[in-house]
Amino acid sequence: MKYNVAQLLKEAIGSHRNFDIEEDICDAEHPMEHVRGAVDMVRTHQGIWVQARLVVRVPQYCSRCLDAFSRTIRIELDEEYFPEVDVKTGMSALPPDEWDALCIAADQNLDLAEATRQATLAAMPLKPLCKPECVGICDRCGCDRNQGPCDCYNREIDPRWAALRSLMDEQQL
Ligand SMILES: [Zn+2]
Ligand SMILES: [Zn+2]
Repeated sequence: MKYNVAQLLKEAIGSHRNFDIEEDICDAEHPMEHVRGAVDMVRTHQGIWVQARLVVRVPQYCSRCLDAFSRTIRIELDEEYFPEVDVKTGMSALPPDEWDALCIAADQNLDLAEATRQATLAAMPLKPLCKPECVGICDRCGCDRNQGPCDCYNREIDPRWAALRSLMDEQQL
């Protein structure tokens, strides 16, 4: 998710770029598979202000049935990025201790991956569900109850019938 902003950094304050992005993400450190959306970058007096509306596809495991599934999460970015190196002079524009994920690297690439990752993590549900009506796995036999009911709880007997059941059991003996 790197975009070269060398040209934009040379332009006047207020210059901007609008573009659409669509990318597969293949990075184990980022909990996302695919990102698409619209990005707007504006030259500010110190850096570049990024606004983006993105749809991120994230692999997840259902907290009830443990199945893997993909979820799409909508996020918005609203961040200002500052260049590590002044594009005109080539001199360091920020002290190294202020370099962080929201810096434009010395090669003038602005990387949206970290901000996207953080916004996605913040928007992810704590208990993901493959579908709202997921009934999960049986806590007795471990079968996936979405595939059909197991017998575990059907065998459970209403206490009012328990006396009758024991009578029937006696007769069977
Ligand atoms: Zn599920
Ligand atoms: Zn069961």
